[in-house]
Amino acid sequence: MTTVNKVRNPYTGERDYEFPEPTGSQIAEVAQRLRSHQAAWAAKSMAQRVAVLREFGQRWGLHRAEILAAIQTDTGRSHVARLETDSIPDTIERVVSDIQSAFTEPEPRSAGIAVITGWQHRVPYGLIGNIAPWNFPIILSFIDTLPALAAGNAVLVKPSEVTPRWVEPVRRVISEVPELSDVLELLPGTGQTGAAVIEHVDAVAFTGSVATGRKVYEAAARRFIPAFLELGGKDPVIVLESADVKFAADTVTNCSVGSTGQACQSLERVYVARPLLDEFVAEVVAVAESVTLNYPDIDAGLIGPFIFEKQPHIVMEHLRDAVAKGAEIQCGGEIIDHGGQWIRPTVLTNVRQDMKVMQEETFGPVIPIMAFDSVTEAIELANDSIYGLSASVFAGSLEEGRNIAQQLKAGAVSVNDASLTAFVHDFSHDSFGFSGLGSSRFGPSAGLRYTREQAILENDSGQAVVASIIQSS
Ligand code: NAD
Repeated sequence: MTTVNKVRNPYTGERDYEFPEPTGSQIAEVAQRLRSHQAAWAAKSMAQRVAVLREFGQRWGLHRAEILAAIQTDTGRSHVARLETDSIPDTIERVVSDIQSAFTEPEPRSAGIAVITGWQHRVPYGLIGNIAPWNFPIILSFIDTLPALAAGNAVLVKPSEVTPRWVEPVRRVISEVPELSDVLELLPGTGQTGAAVIEHVDAVAFTGSVATGRKVYEAAARRFIPAFLELGGKDPVIVLESADVKFAADTVTNCSVGSTGQACQSLERVYVARPLLDEFVAEVVAVAESVTLNYPDIDAGLIGPFIFEKQPHIVMEHLRDAVAKGAEIQCGGEIIDHGGQWIRPTVLTNVRQDMKVMQEETFGPVIPIMAFDSVTEAIELANDSIYGLSASVFAGSLEEGRNIAQQLKAGAVSVNDASLTAFVHDFSHDSFGFSGLGSSRFGPSAGLRYTREQAILENDSGQAVVASIIQSS
């Protein structure tokens, strides 16, 4: 029997969309169909695959309005929805450039044993499963899919059940590029579908929470396939005494509350040199109070509704825990219900490191601020987390900031700015701690990680090398 998923609209709170959960046999059939076309796709030259991806990018542009309308409804936000929709053609170009520089033509070369010539080449895994979350549904469904495709794989994408509306128009785009539709399919569904996808693929790229990432890793281990995990974060920022307070406060506020804090690289812990504390807090509160909601006009205001129905409960639980342990709410802190649920930027002071708001991913526009008395203490506090996605440092000079950055346990550190990894994708970086596993999704490894290296060793001498070594010993 088919199960129908009823999907909530984050802006109105109404369940105004539904879609069927794929059955086990449908998932198996899709996987089988994609797999049957993968060898022909891999046999194309890189230039041919790139041409197909560029064609997809062009057709995406022609369908922009319908994709944008759908993702706007899925996420209850308009500016970020535009950024997401418009990011795909640019991502294709970045991936093409990265992969063309990483995938060199195999050159035969002599081995240490003179009669042997060897050459190495890259073999795609075959079928990649890409499981994506709800916070940037389009970007995170394609950020790993595009390099996997370019590297010669077929890809089965499992978008989040929380935000599935954009899938229909995008499937129409894919259907207009037949060579692509042979090797790419999007199957939205719940975790049950995600788990089933893992049973049919040769490697899995997963973006989501640590809890689900652990299940994905275990399932992949049982099947002996690789899992590339991009998980949660609890990004710290250190504001040193030498920093420009106003600049730091403005930047920290925007990078904590942007996208309603529903971004893995949002700043979630703020450590400020004690002499700056009062001025910094005053400035953050002033900026936070000037930020407006995107209600009643979805096109105006920075703060959108919570996308995921359970998220406001998590945020409020963190605030209650913090207040019970002595924190003070300087502004915000209350859920605003217009059908969908919003919260104004919420600034917390008197926070302690043992509060949930300093330990667990909050995923809301909450700015907990804590003072430090020495740089050593600041580094210890920043590193006191199970996560290690990214971090920021504000300092009087880049040298001073860089020195601190190198001591932080995080895969990427912004100096005198914040959350740069959201838009700067030119540098490889790994996730530290529970924030992820597997080589970088950016830079040369973005495509390389979806392939294995094969060595072909050739002997044209007529003399069997190993056999003769064995005989002579
Ligand atoms: P989630 O872990 O709840 O779900 C992610 C995806 O996994 C969804 O598609 C879901 O249906 C699927 N899923 C659920 N159970 C599964 C199972 N047993 N097997 C396979 N798939 C299963 O995450 P979410 O709430 O959708 O997203 C928010 C999380 O994603 C946050 O923790 C955030 O930090 C993280 N995130 C990380 C990055 C990054 O690049 N590191 C980027 C964005 C979001």
